[in-house]
Amino acid sequence: MQSSNSRIEVLKGDITKVRVDVVVNAANSSLMGGGGVDGAIHRAGGPAILEECKRIVARQGDCPTGEAVITTGGNLPAKYVIHTVGPVWYGGSHQEEEKLAECYRNSLALAVANHCKTIAFPNISTGIYHFPKEKAAHIAVRTVLDFLQKETSIEKVIFVCFDAENESLIRKEMDQTR
Ligand code: ADP
Repeated sequence: MQSSNSRIEVLKGDITKVRVDVVVNAANSSLMGGGGVDGAIHRAGGPAILEECKRIVARQGDCPTGEAVITTGGNLPAKYVIHTVGPVWYGGSHQEEEKLAECYRNSLALAVANHCKTIAFPNISTGIYHFPKEKAAHIAVRTVLDFLQKETSIEKVIFVCFDAENESLIRKEMDQTR
């Protein structure tokens, strides 16, 4: 079996272009779309994604912070989108770090449950939600590695970084794991 690190890749770019089984969206709890990566995913994926989000919210209500739901990928190259709600950064005393780790863990578990072998993550919460990027990179890499050590059905996890700062922080975290 491949080591856990070698199943992780880091890319700089636009997550809507990545060909994987599932891409993760940094959504808000209404699941109704928004700015940043959320807006980009809904724009590129088309209306089928929002329609499914609306059905999910009608059935089970808003998506709590740290949790995740899955929809079609619509017109994206990815088959599915997992929508997870990252924590807003309020200074660190509102369980933000644990909630961010839950986003990664719950998204990975949902991917496994849906037989996905390849998954791409954006840098959840580091945009409009203002989670400190260095802390977020540490949590993202450590949580994914921990998960991969126990779960072997996931073949590839790609961190798709939109900005150079996140890319270099994630690469630095990865270097420390080798
Ligand atoms: P949040 O509300 O969770 O902070 P944002 O969408 O504002 O969500 O930001 C999360 C991260 O996604 C940021 O690092 C932002 O630069 C990045 N991002 C924005 N657009 C894209 C995209 N098309 N592909 C990948 N990452 C993106």
